[in-house]
Amino acid sequence: MKEKRDCKIVQDLLPNYIENLTSKETNNFIEEHLKECDECQKILENMKKDLQTDSVKRDNREVKYIKKYNSKLKILRNILLFIIVLFIIIVGRKTFILVNLSNKAKTFENNQNFHSKTEFYEKGEMRTIEVYKKQDKILMTWTKYSQDKDKIKQIFYKSGEEKISLIDNGKTKTLTKVQDIIVDPISFISNNFFINLYTAITTNIDKVDLNGKKCYIIRDGNTEKFVDVETGIAIKEIDNKNNITVDYAYEFGVVEDSDVIRPDTTEYTIIE
Ligand SMILES: [Zn+2]
Repeated sequence: MKEKRDCKIVQDLLPNYIENLTSKETNNFIEEHLKECDECQKILENMKKDLQTDSVKRDNREVKYIKKYNSKLKILRNILLFIIVLFIIIVGRKTFILVNLSNKAKTFENNQNFHSKTEFYEKGEMRTIEVYKKQDKILMTWTKYSQDKDKIKQIFYKSGEEKISLIDNGKTKTLTKVQDIIVDPISFISNNFFINLYTAITTNIDKVDLNGKKCYIIRDGNTEKFVDVETGIAIKEIDNKNNITVDYAYEFGVVEDSDVIRPDTTEYTIIE
């Protein structure tokens, strides 16, 4: 009878015994009993077997889960790789366009013979700047048109060492000497590769047709800059925030000597 009662106790303890959760004394008691009891011995063996198949099942589940997780990770990695490649292609294309335009602009920026007309529109006012340049001769006319004010006209003339400014505000006409007159064609494109790379990342660049002229439009927040595909020189600039529009028109190699004749200064008062 005593043995049967021990069996009950031992069998209750066996699960913990397998998991090594029992004390040394209890282990001794169980092991002593197992030596003499075949039935409990068998039960222990079966329990161990069950535990093994359980762990195998658990392992299989884990392997399945890891496989599933890995394939998801692979898909995610491929999507990320695709986005990176797409980003590089788009930025690369834009950088290529900008570098190409800056190379073209370089030759036109230093052109010694050109005619340009620039029109500024701002808050109901229009200003125009017209330039004729032929080697060291420059004739630049700056006109401001206003709805409620008189027209103001300023002429800059440069021929060799002579550099003068003529202002006609509708009432008085004055002549002053100026330091220098710089009228180089405007290009929106930098010569610096890294600035072009930054521009490629931060702006949108599209090819558009503007009044029959092929150009690239560079959109950066509130501003839109139009650049001539052939020359890399500015065509138009729109500042939507400040409501300013500037139109540029350039013609290269068309200026004759008769376009850069010294203006008549007889009516102007000289101011030192
Ligand atoms: Zn027993």
